[in-house]
Amino acid sequence: MADKLTSSFMRSLCMGQIEQDVLFPFPTLPADQQALLHEIAAALEDLLGPRAEDFRQWDVDGDLPADFLQELKDFGLFGLIIPEEHGGMGLGNMAYSRTLQEVGRYDASVAVTIGAHSSIGMRGLLLFGSDEQKSRYMPQLASGEMIAAFCLTEPGAGSDAAAIKTTAVREGDQWVLNGNKLWITNGGFADFFTVFARTGAEGEHGKMTAFIVTRDMEGVSTGPHEDKMGLRASSTTSVLFDDVRVPADNVLGEVGLGFKVAMQILNSGRTGLGGGSVGAMKRLIKESTQQANERKTFGQPISSYGLIKEKVGQMIVDCYTSEAVVTMVGGLVDGGYREYAVEAAISKVYATECLTRTADEALQIAGGNGFMREYPYERIVRDCRINRIFEGTNEILRLFIALTAMNDVASQLTELSSSMKGVFSEPIKGFGVLSDYARKHAKLRTGRGDSGKLQNLDESIQPQADAFELETRYLARAADRILRKHGKNIIGKQFATKRLADIMIDLFVMACTMSRVQASIDANGVQKASQEIEILRVFTREARVRIKRNFRRIDNNEDELLKALAIDAFEVERYRWDTI
Ligand SMILES: Cc1cc2nc3c(=O)[nH]c(=O)nc-3n(C[C@H](O)[C@H](O)[C@H](O)COP(=O)(O)OP(=O)(O)OC[C@H]3O[C@@H](n4cnc5c(N)ncnc54)[C@H](O)[C@@H]3O)c2cc1C
Repeated sequence: MADKLTSSFMRSLCMGQIEQDVLFPFPTLPADQQALLHEIAAALEDLLGPRAEDFRQWDVDGDLPADFLQELKDFGLFGLIIPEEHGGMGLGNMAYSRTLQEVGRYDASVAVTIGAHSSIGMRGLLLFGSDEQKSRYMPQLASGEMIAAFCLTEPGAGSDAAAIKTTAVREGDQWVLNGNKLWITNGGFADFFTVFARTGAEGEHGKMTAFIVTRDMEGVSTGPHEDKMGLRASSTTSVLFDDVRVPADNVLGEVGLGFKVAMQILNSGRTGLGGGSVGAMKRLIKESTQQANERKTFGQPISSYGLIKEKVGQMIVDCYTSEAVVTMVGGLVDGGYREYAVEAAISKVYATECLTRTADEALQIAGGNGFMREYPYERIVRDCRINRIFEGTNEILRLFIALTAMNDVASQLTELSSSMKGVFSEPIKGFGVLSDYARKHAKLRTGRGDSGKLQNLDESIQPQADAFELETRYLARAADRILRKHGKNIIGKQFATKRLADIMIDLFVMACTMSRVQASIDANGVQKASQEIEILRVFTREARVRIKRNFRRIDNNEDELLKALAIDAFEVERYRWDTI
């Protein structure tokens, strides 16, 4: 059995090891939580279903009215992940993500307001708070009396969070905070802020500390509501700290470990954004299929045309596979796995990019109507654009996904090199030996040893299982080849790193989808699961084409030419070739 403290499916996969028992069987919610979710979904339909026109108007106004916010509080939407003993619903990660999915069907501004509170705003309290801190704040956070916000970003520090300049200086039993935070979701009405400040020299990860700051502390203020492209009804403001005196017992976690606190909050909250993305995709599929059936051109409904079917078919594959990945990551968190950061990052990147594609194609299916504000498509396109930027940009997350894997391969090399003296006299050349070693010694958790077969899968999806195993070899070879080519300079080789990340993303999505389809076959039989089997087939074929292409392009690419063009453009800061 995989060790829940140390196992990461993807990190093991990069070492040639398929830890099947981590992903199989596909996670399901206990019956009581399923029943609760059905109730929540029905109640949300009553609450949000009739508000379509309001959501459209609030997007135009750029505001979520206070009485509607009160309705969300009364519903309990701010207490989703707060334990029942503190007045919340005590939902696990899967159920929470699923609830955001339901909200995401109706309106992204509402989903992000609730999500910023639970996914990031108060999650630090849940993960790192002392019992005393929890008793002090959780009841008010559960009722919505206090809404939470997460304050990390600053004008000079977004992706590079360690560059924050907000400082906290210890004075007696208080810390004095000074600094400006930028683009803080819920900033306009939050009362509870998880704030990150420097308690050591600039740029040192270890010298950041997390604090609980409340609006009633003197010196806390917020800037005006930002005028945004999307999520317009959600509140985004700056949050300013001017000599704010924070009691020492408001430190969240340990002094100096704030960077770790921030990263763990973001890792653990990622299924919220994934869930919201899946909800929006489901809604778009509903709208697009209705629109395509109704709209006639050349005497036929446009749903009869191949080019429209291609778009809707792809939307379904994207939505089903995204839901498989997001649910799986929620299941890993609820199942007590501790090493899920790479998998959570993959779920965020994949689900947000599938939603981008789905929203764009849904607008295309709607034609000119899609461009009109009267219809929901253009708003969803605008709303979902931020998903690839906040909670870790998809670029930074891709680097994280691949570099974590490479780091593992490199540390295995170090371990091996000490136990196999001489083999690694030239470390970088030794990677080939390493991947051979990893392959030969891969103890496939399937029990069939070196045959490398996933076990107990229905024969209808055996070809996809075979493909997965085969493509896993490409992953090991890709990591090996990239490391041999670039060695320790890999950190600066982002074209190569992205290719490895993309291979990893495709493989994880394939594995999660296989697990989901197998669960459906187990529950309903092959006949009833036939469409889901087809979805797995389509995804696997598409993924294999991408994986092979990414692998081929490790050595055969235009990277240097593209880089040269970009470097020249950065120098002249313009496009050189005009026709007039
Ligand atoms: C609507 C909205 C809500 C937000 N809510 C919150 C919130 O509640 N709390 C909070 O703390 N923050 C919040 N943010 C901030 C958000 O998290 C940041 O915008 C995000 O982290 C990116 O930082 P940045 O904007 O400074 O971009 P930058 O870090 O400047 O990045 C610019 C571009 O460069 C790329 N890039 C950067 N570094 C690298 C690299 N090393 N290699 C390759 N590419 C790189 C990025 O991927 C991006 O494409 C919000 C932002 C918005 C717009």
